[in-house]
Amino acid sequence: LAKPAIAAAPTPAPERRAKLSNPDRVLWPATERSPIVTKAMLADYYMRMAPLLLPQVAARPLSILRTPDGIDGESFFQRHATKGMSPLLQPVVIPGQPKPYVTIHDEGGLLALAQISATELHPWGARAATPEVPDRLVFDLDPGPGVDFATIRAAAQRLRAVLDACGMTSFPRLSGGKGVHIVVALGTSQRGGAAGWPEAKAFALHVCKLLEREDPASFTTTMSKRVREGRIFLDYLRNASKATAIASWSPRARAGAPLARPISWTMLAKATSPDAYRLTEQLQARAPRDPWVEMEAAAIPLKHAIERLRRRA
Ligand code: ATP
Ligand code: MN
Ligand code: MN
Repeated sequence: LAKPAIAAAPTPAPERRAKLSNPDRVLWPATERSPIVTKAMLADYYMRMAPLLLPQVAARPLSILRTPDGIDGESFFQRHATKGMSPLLQPVVIPGQPKPYVTIHDEGGLLALAQISATELHPWGARAATPEVPDRLVFDLDPGPGVDFATIRAAAQRLRAVLDACGMTSFPRLSGGKGVHIVVALGTSQRGGAAGWPEAKAFALHVCKLLEREDPASFTTTMSKRVREGRIFLDYLRNASKATAIASWSPRARAGAPLARPISWTMLAKATSPDAYRLTEQLQARAPRDPWVEMEAAAIPLKHAIERLRRRA
């Protein structure tokens, strides 16, 4: 087999390798465009990206996709903390839930995730301490068969316009798979209490229905496969209690080790595919700037947005 034309990433620090079992296990096999990614390289990626990645995942219940034999082997989605897990993967009890969830809080937690071959990180849209108070909305644009990326880009802009009209600043992310996510930060410290998940879900559905009504040939809020042909499914269901979405900067357990990559609207206008960014490229590059730096400052209470939407309707 011919070697891929891309240089291998630098070898991770020896002391970090020492903490990993099977550091040379291949989690992502090589493809024509990308070299292999080993467990040690995943750990290295998590450590390098910790300043950007931790704010996205820390202190939130975390579902993790584990691929102990690599992405082509058996994989499983883990939500709950189990006996024998590293104490760095801190169990957290959510009121009303019988089993504790997993949270991490620091670089050690990220390293422990690499150790168990966690190749995808999916946080809740709420913090573990306040699980019923959403602080993120995620609009997940899922292209049906036959939808090209230019159409997804245009759809993202239309969604952005609706959110703007609600007073919400939104931020795009390439999913690393087939689509794009549009993310909004919610303010959570209102007098009289912040909105809960039922309101968040109703709001997200309302916004998506608005787009569907405006342009039913392009959009659907129906999950059924048949309806999705040639349309974009506006997946509002990320916005619910216990629902997750892929974390910004998380790798994806797909060929070539693509990343869920937060980007700016300017970058989206120039983007050509949702899996354009790769883990191995990031291992060799300087840490990127956070394209979402403005997000926290732009957070708005959901109740204000609901009010603006009501007046608009
Ligand atoms: P794409 O752009 O390809 O759609 P995506 O990350 O948006 O990528 P979806 O298929 O739309 O992928 O998945 C939506 C979300 O559902 C995921 O991000 C994840 O948080 C959650 N999810 C995925 N797989 C599982 C699973 N096996 N169990 C529970 N939740 C899952
Ligand atoms: Mn999606
Ligand atoms: Mn989806």
